[in-house]
Order: sequence, then structure tokens, then C-alpha cells
Amino acid sequence: MATRFVQNAPDEVLATAKKLLRKGLVEGTAGNVSARMADGSICITPSSVDYEEMAIEDLVVIDQAGEPVSGTRPASSEKALHLACYQAFEEVGSVIHSHPVHATVFAVARRPIPACIDEFTVYVGGEVAVTEYAPSGTPEVGQAAVAVLAERGAALLANHGMVAVGKSPADALHITALVERSAEIILGAVALGGAVELPGDMNKNFGDVYRLLRTT
Ligand SMILES: [Zn+2]
Repeated sequence: MATRFVQNAPDEVLATAKKLLRKGLVEGTAGNVSARMADGSICITPSSVDYEEMAIEDLVVIDQAGEPVSGTRPASSEKALHLACYQAFEEVGSVIHSHPVHATVFAVARRPIPACIDEFTVYVGGEVAVTEYAPSGTPEVGQAAVAVLAERGAALLANHGMVAVGKSPADALHITALVERSAEIILGAVALGGAVELPGDMNKNFGDVYRLLRTT
């Protein structure tokens, strides 16, 4: 397939960043949203600007090497994570890095989120694994995440948070919210005595749907 990009990337990135805050998936200025543009450059949220106050002129455009193309602010400190995802996967149009509470519980415990819910496997691809630990803001975070994201819509960043990849900012936000909701449900099921995974054949069938949807 041709490299995926997002029409009206700045508008989509800004609207999604504000929804990320409203949905409680990040706190303060943490987390970041980006989208690939038609020329291959990346529109990304800036470092250290409150989402409530963020305006279209605060967004930054960087090239594939991470160098600034336009904008007056520094790009997000996790830009290397975003760039690694676009470089590895031509079908990815948007990347969201977030710190949702329940998904981060799994990331801190270094336990994968198991595939226990039909829609989770359809939209995420199956169990979401934890990456190798890498310090925040380093290129190693991206390398570790890409290893998990090859067949999944999301990865848990060890002792940190999560990252989701999708066709558009709205798609990556949907995956982020679904992973967080599933993490919360599974913690509840564990409290009731245990979460039961999907039967193996159904997990595979739903995973096939994910793999098909990702590239079409
Ligand atoms: Zn972070």
C-alpha cells in the first residue's frame, strides 16, 4: 500500500489532543499526538503546553529526521517514539502516546493485557505486550515499541505508559481508549477471581480481522 497520511493533519491532531485530556487518558502536559502529512513530514503536539490552552499555532511540523519544518515551539520530547513508528509502518497515519491509569498499572507490573474481549482483539490485534524498558525520551523507547507494534495497535511502555498506532488520530484515540477500558475491566475480573481469555480460535479469527483492517 501507499504510505498513509492524514488530510487536515493539524486540525485532527489538535482536536484529538484535547479529547485525550477530556477522556482522562493523560494529565497536564503529558502524552503526545501526531499525524503523518501528505509530504511525509509529521505534525506533532509541542513539548510542555497545556492541552486546554493548546492552539493550532502551537503545533510543530518535523521532517522524518526529526528536524523542525515549521512552528515556533520545540516538538514533543517523545518525538523519536513517533518517528520510529512512522518509519517502521507505512500503514500508520497517526501515533498517540499516553499515560492512562489502568494500562499503566499493567506497564508498571510488566504484565501484558490479555485478550479477553472480542472488540479488543478486533481493534488491537490481541494481547498487548510490555516493551523492554527504555528511559523516557530516548530513541530506544521507539525501537522497543516498534518490536511490539508490528502486529498490534498498541504497546505498553515498561514503567511509563502506552503508545497506540492507527490510520488517523481518531483511530489511534479509539485504540488508546479501548486498551485503557479493557485494562480496567480485566483488573476488575482479576479481583473477582480471574480474567478468562478468548478461546484460541476466536482470538486468531479476530486477530486476522485486525491485520486485514490495518492495511486497508
Ligand atoms: Zn510519556
